[in-house]
Parts: sequence; structure tokens; C-alpha cells
Amino acid sequence: MADGQPQPDCLFCKIVAGEIPATVVRETDLTLAFKDINPQAPVHDLIVPRAHYANAAELAFGAPELAAAVLLEAREVAKTEGIADGGYRVVFNTDAHAGQTVFHVHAHVLGGDFLAHFGT
Ligand code: C5P
Repeated sequence: MADGQPQPDCLFCKIVAGEIPATVVRETDLTLAFKDINPQAPVHDLIVPRAHYANAAELAFGAPELAAAVLLEAREVAKTEGIADGGYRVVFNTDAHAGQTVFHVHAHVLGGDFLAHFGT
């Protein structure tokens, strides 16, 4: 059962701990938002809870208030990036068939253009 504890081999736990660098956009007590290193849109940020949950389903089940905090943070990141008015996309890839490659839940926040031709 997921309990939010840091995982030793988790890349995003290491970013949260400051052990791997990232370009931070916003931080709160509960979350960290940083630039995706391989952006798929003019603005492409990731929001992670500081606590480790593998995917959106585990987060929603194990820590629903933290799931809400991540969703609320998407709006704040969009405001910070100047894309809140134009519209933006929030994506949680969940497990292998969706293309999830880092198994610490993260919201992709994409925007800055019409997104029909962008994927993540
Ligand atoms: O949803 P998925 O797991 O595929 O997304 C992982 C994302 O993490 C990718 O968009 C990748 O570019 C990003 N990433 C990053 N910094 C790293 C490693 C991966 O922004 N150091």
C-alpha cells in the first residue's frame, strides 16, 4: 500500500530532495512544479507532490487532499506561466500503455499555443 514515503531510486523524489537539478516554476509545502526537460509545447511544466505516489490513481486513493492540491496547483502554474487565460491542458499519464516513464505521479501542464498538434 502506498504511503507517500520517498523511494530511493525515484527520479522525482531526487528532484524534490534537491539531489537532481530542475528549473523550478513554483513550490508549495506539498508540491513542486518544474520545467519538463523535453517540452512538447511552448509551456510544458510538471507538478509533482513531494510525497511519493506512483500514479494518479494511487494518489487519489491514498491521499485525496494531496490529489486536490496538485490539481489546484495546475491553475497556479498556468497563471505563473501566463497561459491561464488562453487555456491549457493537464495530463496524468498512468502506467505503461499511456507512456508513463517516471513512476512518481506528475501532472503535465501544457499550453502557450493551440495544442491539437502537441502530444505528451
Ligand atoms: O508522463 P511521463 O512519465 O512519460 O513523463 C515523464 C516526463 O518527465 C517526460 O515528459 C520527461 O521529459 C520528463 N523529465 C524531466 N526531467 C527529468 C526526467 C524526465 O522533466 N530529469
